[in-house]
Amino acid sequence: MSKTYNFCAGPAALPEPVMLRAQQELLDWNGLGVSVMEISHRSKDYQELANKAEKDLRNLLDIGDEFAVLFLQGGASLQFASIPMSLLHSGREAEYVENGVWSKKAAEEAARFGKVNMINAVNIDENGIRSLTDSQSWNRTENPAYTHFTSNETIEGMRFSQVPQTNGPLIADMSSCILSERLDMKAFDLIYAGAQKNIGPAGMTIVIVKRELFEQMKFDGLPKVFNYEAQAKNGSMLNTPPTFAWYLASLVFDWLQEQGGVMRMEELAKQKSQLVYDCIDEDDFFTNPIAVKDRSMMNIPFFLKNESLSEKFLIQAQEAKLMGLKGHRSLGGMRVSLYNSVPLEGAQALVKFMREFKTLNG
Ligand code: PMP
Repeated sequence: MSKTYNFCAGPAALPEPVMLRAQQELLDWNGLGVSVMEISHRSKDYQELANKAEKDLRNLLDIGDEFAVLFLQGGASLQFASIPMSLLHSGREAEYVENGVWSKKAAEEAARFGKVNMINAVNIDENGIRSLTDSQSWNRTENPAYTHFTSNETIEGMRFSQVPQTNGPLIADMSSCILSERLDMKAFDLIYAGAQKNIGPAGMTIVIVKRELFEQMKFDGLPKVFNYEAQAKNGSMLNTPPTFAWYLASLVFDWLQEQGGVMRMEELAKQKSQLVYDCIDEDDFFTNPIAVKDRSMMNIPFFLKNESLSEKFLIQAQEAKLMGLKGHRSLGGMRVSLYNSVPLEGAQALVKFMREFKTLNG
């Protein structure tokens, strides 16, 4: 039986060795005779797992002690609210750099709690090609409470290849690109990412926050679980954490280290995405509306010039065991997500299918 390749945008593919190990350990974890799902988060065995997962993530992203690493619930969307609720006070203004649906949602949520300067960072040229504008042209806030940006826009397939300059704390939503490329942690004050793309199953959100930033946060009047400092002091266990998601993330971190870490993932991301972009760009059968310099390595939306073939493309792709290619409902067309768990062979199989489809329908 040939393999199914999963190009879903999230929840997304998980590494096969991770799934097999989870399957093997499901009923008897760590020799306890019960599942990891069935034990106390405060037990010695679970605490060891949690500590190791944090250590491995710190190792993978080269995160120093000046940062706290939190394993929280509520998805990236809760961070859209939690960040302004604690950081946007005293009449200050935050900058939100907008380059797609998720950064806009983050900005709109923040605007419910305080003053927000929404900076449109996208230019659309006469051919409909989108590109990120130079930060020099942005209408900046002089002394922002913080600057928020979305490193990789999952729906539009647009990536910041450089971190925006700011004179305030820098906050990044890395939900769809964390662990796929190396980071210079020095540039950031807070990074967050929902787990369901490059980390593990849905239900957990990772927050990496500089401890110094706690001094600028106000937690009065907020539910205690939104208190980043208290979460850090309590090892993300103010209440019961998402234990199974955390366990699976720990297996993903093990797997990433075995594969050669984030540097290897970055090489693979370049290779896999280049294969797909080359296939799209070789003629005008397929199109991708993002300027080459700003294209995502994780999410590639593409369209058929002859739109009436889209349905056929998706049906035949599914038959060829290439799943999850339907574009986001707001854009239509197709989208391929190439997260860490999608092997090079998956991208190769997709490109082979795209070329065959083109030959038969071009
Ligand atoms: N930010 C980005 C970049 C995303 O891709 C998503 C989800 N696809 C979100 C935020 C929202 O994540 P969640 O559903 O975990 O709230």
